[in-house]
Amino acid sequence: MSNLTSEKEVIELCERCSARVNLQYKLVEEKNCIYCCGIFSKIKDIAKEMVPKLREYNIKTIEVGCELKGSLREFEDYLNPQVSIKNEIKNEISKILEEFGFSDVRRRKVIPDAVININAENLNYNIRITPIYLYGRYIKRIRNIPQTRWVCSACKGKGCQICGFTGKKYQMSVEEYIGIPIMNVTKCENFILHGAGREDVDTRMLGKGRPFILEIVNPKIRNLNLKELEKAVNEFSKGKVYIKLFGFAEPKHVSELKTGKYKKIYRAVVEFERPVKKEELEEALKNLSYKEINQFTPERVEHRRAKLLRKRRTYKIELLLYRERKAVIKIEADSGLYIKELVSGDKGRTKPSLSEILNNPSRVVKLDVVDVLGGLKEFE
Ligand SMILES: [Zn+2]
Ligand SMILES: [Zn+2]
Repeated sequence: MSNLTSEKEVIELCERCSARVNLQYKLVEEKNCIYCCGIFSKIKDIAKEMVPKLREYNIKTIEVGCELKGSLREFEDYLNPQVSIKNEIKNEISKILEEFGFSDVRRRKVIPDAVININAENLNYNIRITPIYLYGRYIKRIRNIPQTRWVCSACKGKGCQICGFTGKKYQMSVEEYIGIPIMNVTKCENFILHGAGREDVDTRMLGKGRPFILEIVNPKIRNLNLKELEKAVNEFSKGKVYIKLFGFAEPKHVSELKTGKYKKIYRAVVEFERPVKKEELEEALKNLSYKEINQFTPERVEHRRAKLLRKRRTYKIELLLYRERKAVIKIEADSGLYIKELVSGDKGRTKPSLSEILNNPSRVVKLDVVDVLGGLKEFE
């Protein structure tokens, strides 16, 4: 620290800063203070500057953070003050904002509507509006809708002849059926659907639906009524996608939802290459029930995911409907088990499989998820 002050020099501090250190100093005006450089006289204006943006987003609660690095940090280490300038800046900003009606959530352990971060060095700041998270379940009643927005791979979203200049491979997704009407209500800038797993584009999601969290990014309306949002979505999608909302979630729930393991129940329409006897099929399904299945990443998804060996369990598998070359079966399985491959065997990549046990090539022609078990306990 000898480069900051030589031993004979007396450091120049303002009244405010000098009160917090235990060193010899010379009293100077704030703007000449070597520690705060007159920050506090500027802070009021900076805090006032934040007000219109906070009001635009209907913010009620805030949290203020302050970054202290570079020379200020070094200087603080040297001065070793009773109260850090960082805390003083934070307090000053929140005091001013409270005068404008915002409430600082500090020490209240609640998530604020917005987080303000200021850099003590240059007084640049940013305001991060906290997203709103909604927890619910969705039902997808028709096929050929992806779960999330799907960009056209030919033009990467720019728009081309292949996608009819929409930039999308599928015109609508579950995410958009839910997000667009909610965007209209909340005046948000974006929305992100986080699902508890996902079904294939051509698979319906029925039963009680799949748990999801919708992240609403930069909403201008924060005071929301879940019943009204549900209604807006269900009217907008005209029955294609149906949602039920259970409550407001927090960021931690997103990771909980994404890492959670939920058993699924499927209903599959299966076709066999050669006619199969009913007893033989029943025996094969019994054989495939409650088994550990070894699955290498299916051929159809290998372009998206690395080739890995997965081990997943099947539970009860039963025959619902029998025709000689067709059957409807109900399968209960761990999340992440590829059902189409459980039936086809995927050229030996999935073992055991229905095709293998029957020694008769079989394939899923239609698939529905009829239930996703579990969900987040706090909400349902
Ligand atoms: Zn000072
Ligand atoms: Zn395109």
